[in-house]
Amino acid sequence: MENRFVYADNAATTPVAPEVVAAMTPYLTEYWGNPSSMYSKGREARRGLDEAREKVANLLGAQPNEIYFTSGGTEADNWAVKGGARYMRKKQGRTHVITSTIEHPAVLRSCEALEREGFRVSYVAVDKNGILDMEKFKAELDDDTAVVAVMFANNEIGTLQPIEELTKLAHEKGALMFTDAVQAIGSVPVNVRELGVDMLSLSGHKFNAPKGTGALYMRRGLKIDKYIDGGGQERMMRSGTENVAGIVGLATALELAVSRLPDTERIRKMRDRLADYILKNIPHTIYNGDPVRRLPGNLNISFEYIEGESLLLLLDMAGICISTGSACSSNSLEPSHVLLSIGLPAEKAHGSMRVSLSHLNTDEDVDYIIEKLPGIVARLRAMSPIYPGEGK
Ligand SMILES: *Cc1c(COP(=O)(O)O)cnc(C)c1O
Repeated sequence: MENRFVYADNAATTPVAPEVVAAMTPYLTEYWGNPSSMYSKGREARRGLDEAREKVANLLGAQPNEIYFTSGGTEADNWAVKGGARYMRKKQGRTHVITSTIEHPAVLRSCEALEREGFRVSYVAVDKNGILDMEKFKAELDDDTAVVAVMFANNEIGTLQPIEELTKLAHEKGALMFTDAVQAIGSVPVNVRELGVDMLSLSGHKFNAPKGTGALYMRRGLKIDKYIDGGGQERMMRSGTENVAGIVGLATALELAVSRLPDTERIRKMRDRLADYILKNIPHTIYNGDPVRRLPGNLNISFEYIEGESLLLLLDMAGICISTGSACSSNSLEPSHVLLSIGLPAEKAHGSMRVSLSHLNTDEDVDYIIEKLPGIVARLRAMSPIYPGEGK
């Protein structure tokens, strides 16, 4: 097969959809007014903003006044975790937070910030498949718990957590429930009413909207502290002139993503075909994460005796974009905290590859990965002094 470009890192970011660009463009060229201005130029922008909020709310099963637009997933996570915990301490004197060991750094670092403010944080472990240990969770939950923050879907191994069940348990103890749904949006149905959560975060660039766009759903009546002080935008909660074009883009992208949900079966089949091929044909491989309770496009495999960054670079030379949980690819010296949490030894975490497929991927993309990957893995292993050879 001739050389192709295969983008298989959709959990990192996604390209902006042409329909999204088309929906945004008038808000950059024509309706560029300030939505807070009362003359017609401002009202045009206000209309776009209001329509976008309504659309996002409808698609999530929320009310428009429960949607707060943010600069992305990281900001929404920070706001929910820190804001939720501080609110519950102020209101009810609660000083405990529960999260999982496999959260996104936006949540983990926010929890650490809360620890510096005197909160006690329980980092609940996951099982070897990456599913939250419910017994350990129940043992941590009590009347002092202010917030439970557990992600809907993991960004590295794609595992889906039992959010509805966790929400029921959290509410029985009077705690707030927050879920980071950044990876779930567009891949699995997400409805805040059905889930019962108090807060939920999402990020535009993970579903074909521009980077720097996101939202926090906050249940009506819950008035945690505002996040940014200033002119009072976002109903006094998050000041700053709204990113109107970005917000319109986010709403359009969400609509497209939800309409495509039936297509996820095709994505799941491509993922499974790739997984089956790798596990049958490349020796010394480990399938990471849960085989069933996971995002349809996510595949995470460890290749023993190789380094993830070497694999990433050689695949890149072949035109294939994937990511790795190896240390050098992150901003730390440690391999992926998620892979370590599911019990993978560091050397096996170093040899991990994450493939994240989207609706834009095709069977030919999978064929191409299947054509290139085995040779690259074999080449790298041939250079390894500790590789015992096939079948050993
Ligand atoms: C990407 C991601 C974030 C951060 O979102 P940004 O918009 O990039 O700040 C948070 N949580 C999860 C699970 C993610 O995958």
